[in-house]
Order: sequence, then structure tokens, then C-alpha cells
Amino acid sequence: MSAGGEGLWERARKVIPGGVNSPVRAFRAVGGQPVFLARGDGSRVWAADGRSFIDYIGSWGPLILGHRHPGVVAAIREATDSGWTFGMPTERETILAELVTAIVPSVEKVRFVNSGTEATMSAIRLARGVTGRDAIVKIEGCYHGHADSLLVKAGSGVATLGIPGSPGVPAALAAKTFTIPWNDAGALERLCRERGAEIACVIAEPVAGNMGCVPPGPGWLAAIRETTARHGILFICDEVMTGFRVALGGAQERFGITADLVTMGKILGGGLPAAAYGGPAFIMDQLAPDGPVYQAGTLSGNPLAMSAGIETLRLLGAVPGAGRALPVPAGAPEKGWDDPYGRLEGTSARLESGLAEAAAAARVPVRINRVGSMMTVFFTDRPVTDWDGAASCDTERFGRFFRAMLLRGVLLPPSQFESFFVSLAHTNEDIEQTLIAARDSFRDAI
Ligand code: PMP
Repeated sequence: MSAGGEGLWERARKVIPGGVNSPVRAFRAVGGQPVFLARGDGSRVWAADGRSFIDYIGSWGPLILGHRHPGVVAAIREATDSGWTFGMPTERETILAELVTAIVPSVEKVRFVNSGTEATMSAIRLARGVTGRDAIVKIEGCYHGHADSLLVKAGSGVATLGIPGSPGVPAALAAKTFTIPWNDAGALERLCRERGAEIACVIAEPVAGNMGCVPPGPGWLAAIRETTARHGILFICDEVMTGFRVALGGAQERFGITADLVTMGKILGGGLPAAAYGGPAFIMDQLAPDGPVYQAGTLSGNPLAMSAGIETLRLLGAVPGAGRALPVPAGAPEKGWDDPYGRLEGTSARLESGLAEAAAAARVPVRINRVGSMMTVFFTDRPVTDWDGAASCDTERFGRFFRAMLLRGVLLPPSQFESFFVSLAHTNEDIEQTLIAARDSFRDAI
């Protein structure tokens, strides 16, 4: 089925591989043609053919304020008025760094880059540089961007030597990536006991969001923290998705853990390309120019992305501390929501319970995992606590549900293995409409 502009899709496929600039956009996992979007406002998006949808993709996480929030529009406009890239330092970078270091636990210094991929890739290089070790540990089903070391298929068992998950990843490099299952502290302990002296870092999403939403089980994050510390291994907490979403200070704040390095992105740039990695000064100072580990970027910290990020965090309630106040862009609201994370929790909980009821009424077995405003409806009758559980879901049924929702004006992420993102722009009315669509769509799914 089509949802806007066959002409656009045909044209795109002639000049862009698969017609898309990021594979999941192509709808291969759910069937049908990708929706070409022309406009977004608040909780809604409009396809090129004029149809509108309630949007639960939110650009894959950045748009926690919804589309075209007037504060962010004002901030970007103000930044364009003074020039949008210099390749030299600007005060905005310092302001955003002051905010991040004030609100994200364990981060004393932060380096801005342009994408989550760049952030994780650079954090791993830094971890390898400071430890003098080459191997890394990745968790099955976690995604950290498309850098070579991280595109490794999850193997079974402990200390599985990496197998390249994509042609083009050198086997010798993939062999340096060990994988263990999510929520398996025993596997981590065994791996570290056997190979710990080779391992520079463990990189993990604190809430898995890239196998669908899979929360950390009791003690899992604490076990990563404790085991890595005992073996002199750095813990890289990849908060590209969870940062500023599951709490203002991210999953570290929500779950009370502290990592050695933290990667951030998505909300950090307010929907413009910005990402970052940060940690204690004694580690971050190992980066060039102060230290020997090299990393750089022509557009890193660019003024448009910094201004969108600053304004997004300001509206979420971030303050830089030390009595400093943030600039309010001309035309932006004086302040954001009183309790943004309480609001997100309320909206998301209503969506979760309504979807569960709708599925039950249609006699469709589902498991809904949710952490704050991240959630996934898994088409299975068993709890989903790791990649094997996620992978055993009925993806055909998810595809039918997705297409049925799309027909009824609700845009979900086009894969069983992605999270829905609820934003502050979603209203009770949006949730009600979504649930009306879901009641029929669950029936259509079987
Ligand atoms: N880490 C996590 C946890 C992510 O969810 C993503 C993207 N979904 C990335 C890293 C990569 O970020 P980007 O797509 O900006 O390169």
C-alpha cells in the first residue's frame, strides 16, 4: 500500500540506494512503501499526499518536544541570523557543555560530534587509548551506530568471537568485539574472568531500545558497573536514545548508576545533528589537543545544532548551575513544562494500558515493555527480556498491525525491533485516537 507519493519513491530509488538514507525507513520489515513526509507540527506529521498521522517515531527519539516547538524554532532562527558555521569555537558550545555537565551524572567534560555513531566510535577509541587494550564487549541486540567494531552479530554463548554482521567489516576487527546476552550478568562475569585483560570497555544501552524496548532486569546495570570496575574495564553507557528521555539526567539518573563514559545524541541536538561523549576530566583530557587520542570534526558543535539542543534542554528544565541563567531566544516561551517527565510518564502509561486492553479485547497476545516514554508492543505471549525473546516475536503480525495503524492515521516505527517515542506534544486526545485505531488494528493483525 502507498502512503504518499509513489512518484517520490520511484524518483528516490533511482538516485539513492533503496530510496532511503537509513535502511529502516524503507519499510522492508513491515511491507509496503515508505511514507514520504512533507511537514510536521506538534504530535503530527503530514505525508506528501496530504494525509496526516499521529507520530510515534519522533525522528527516532530527538523530538521529545514534538515537531516545530516554537522555542526551538526561535532558537534556530536566532542562530541563523548570526551565521551557522565557523569551524571555530563559539559560546554556544560552552553553554551546552555546561548544561550537560550540570545534569548528566559522571560527566565532567564533554566533546561534541555530529551523530550517535560518531559518539560511540570515538568513546571506544578513547577507551582503547586509555586502557591500552583492544577488545570490546557489546551486548546482543544493542545498537550503537554503524561503526565497524559495533556491527557485529550477536553470537551465542560467552566470549563468542565476533562474526562480521556486514560485508566490509574486517574479520580481524570484528574478532575484537565479544558479545554477551542482555541481562546476563553471569555471562559478563565469565567473559571478564577469561578475557578481562584484553577488554578496554563494555558498551551497553542502559535501556535497550534497539531490539524494541527491553528494560534492564534487576541488578543488571549494577552488575555491569561492578564487574567492569573490578577488571579495570571502562563502562560506556550509550545514552544516545535514553539521554534526556528516561529522565533529564538520562538512565544513569533514573537507575542510579555511574558510567566511565557516556554517549549522547538525539535529544541533545533537539533534532539537528549533534551528539557527544563525556566523562570524568581525567579520561576526557586524554583527547587531543590535551592528550594523544585523536578525534575531530569540521561541523562539530555547529551553532544551529547547539542552539536547538540548548533550547530543548532548557524547555525540559535544565539549568547550567553556578547561578548562571540560560538565554531565552526572542519569541520562545519563558519556560517549558512544570513537570515534563511526569507528563511523559502519564501520557505513556495511558497509551500502554490502553494498548494492552485493546490487544486483550481482540485476543491478540502481546507483551508491552515500557520505560518512561519509550515502549514496544511485542507480538508474543512470553516476557521479552533479551534479544532471543525479541527475535522470537511474530514480526508478520507486527507488520499487519503497523499497516493497519498507518491506514487509520497512526505512524508507528516500522519494525518490531524499535521503540515508540511519546513526546510532550502528545495530548490525551492523541492517545484516545491512537487507541481507537488500535482496537480495530489488533483485530486486523490476526
Ligand atoms: N546508540 C544508540 C543507543 C542509538 O539508538 C543510535 C541510533 N538509533 C545510535 C547509537 C547511533 O546514532 P546515529 O544514528 O545518530 O548515528
